[in-house]
Amino acid sequence: MAKIQKLLIANRGEIALRIHRACHEMGIKTVAVHSTADADQMHVRLADETVCIGPPPAGQSYLNIANIISAAEVTHADAIHPGYGFLSENAQFAEIVESHNIIWVGPKPEHIRVMGDKVEAKRTAAKLGLPLVPGSDGALESVEEARELAAEIGYPVLIKAASGGGGRGMKVVPEESQLESLMGQAASEAKAAFGDATVYMEKYLGDPRHIEFQVFGDGEGQAIHVGERDCSIQRRHQKVIEEAPSPVISAEQRTEMGERVRKAMADMGYRGAGTIEFLYENGEFYFIEMNTRLQVEHPVTEMISGLDLVREQIHVAQGDGLTVRQEDLRLFGHAIECRINAEDPRTFAPSPGTVDRYVAPGGMHVRVDSGLYAGYKVPPYYDSMIGKLIVYGRNRDSCILRLKRALEEFVVSGPGMKTNVPLHQDIIQTEAFRTGEYTIKWLEQWLKDQEQEQA
Ligand code: ADP
Repeated sequence: MAKIQKLLIANRGEIALRIHRACHEMGIKTVAVHSTADADQMHVRLADETVCIGPPPAGQSYLNIANIISAAEVTHADAIHPGYGFLSENAQFAEIVESHNIIWVGPKPEHIRVMGDKVEAKRTAAKLGLPLVPGSDGALESVEEARELAAEIGYPVLIKAASGGGGRGMKVVPEESQLESLMGQAASEAKAAFGDATVYMEKYLGDPRHIEFQVFGDGEGQAIHVGERDCSIQRRHQKVIEEAPSPVISAEQRTEMGERVRKAMADMGYRGAGTIEFLYENGEFYFIEMNTRLQVEHPVTEMISGLDLVREQIHVAQGDGLTVRQEDLRLFGHAIECRINAEDPRTFAPSPGTVDRYVAPGGMHVRVDSGLYAGYKVPPYYDSMIGKLIVYGRNRDSCILRLKRALEEFVVSGPGMKTNVPLHQDIIQTEAFRTGEYTIKWLEQWLKDQEQEQA
């Protein structure tokens, strides 16, 4: 396959800049496509060519397949990188890109499709030998079936939408008397949100951690894993802080589960970057889903492995295979990422505005992935994440000390604009964070406790 000469970045914000940087380091020209609200984005200024693809609403710009393909055609881009979100997990878009003889920097469309349907994804994971949360073998066909199954696995159970995402269409059923009504609610919510009323059942785990493995395949049966990330610091199922490695996973567990996910990807013939997400409780892993794209939190893996995951994606996409073998991969030290959002640190209300002062932290082992600059206007139309702070240390304690120092240096301000930097400062000083003894429920409980203290 020919080397990629010019790559179109079908995204915005920090991830678009991240992709642009990898491309320029590889001598690849970039095309930035943007909505009318994003003409002043940093990556748009830096890209070799730019094309406006529509008005601010994502449906008319970043999700507008016809306009994106046209932009690739007129600029003669030979590859498209979708980033995360938007069209990154749209199998049909991947097919359209490939049918135009443009290199798709992503997994094979059939793998995107299978993993996008959670019932199919679980079936596939089971076939590949990954441990599942106990639950229904596929979709629930009737309330009777659900009742029998729930009695078998024990309450509480969780009803989930097959086409779900972002925690929608999910209901915890505490006891049998509520099963029928909650199952009905989950199905109608799923129908409204995703146009698909299919639901399935899982045992509801009381207090797990969220631990995910980074995987990579060359599409020809070679695969690697790049260790795990712990993303248990969550609010409303949204990750807030991520770290690698997990403070609770031993080297033996990493090798054992890493090898299982590596082999699963090799057997599948998986191509490109992926993440296998597990819940982890009482020493056991339970597969919940696979994301067939680059993740927001990928830099923590880059910091401890030295691998550039976007470069790796491009290598694989142009048919050059993986740049490392599993046995040559070494993980060193510790990395933590804080998602920096333009939002009120207490109420979490989005707080867009114009940045008038911006000073990013620096120094040894400090990385800031952000397109911010003084004068930049944060548009109100998209996600509130305006950047990511990623810090490395030789061990977890030194990493936390450096993170504290870096957060002290972080200045983002503007009239009426707020960020969650103060929230990060508070979280990392808690006992639970410092000892690493937190679960997916911890942050919300801690926020509630704080509120009560202040009341
Ligand atoms: P979505 O795609 O909607 O984000 P996931 O399956 O990835 O759904 O689950 C999102 C979050 O919901 C998980 O990170 C976890 O916090 C919670 N969750 C999912 N499944 C279970 C379960 N079986 N038991 C307890 N919590 C769960």
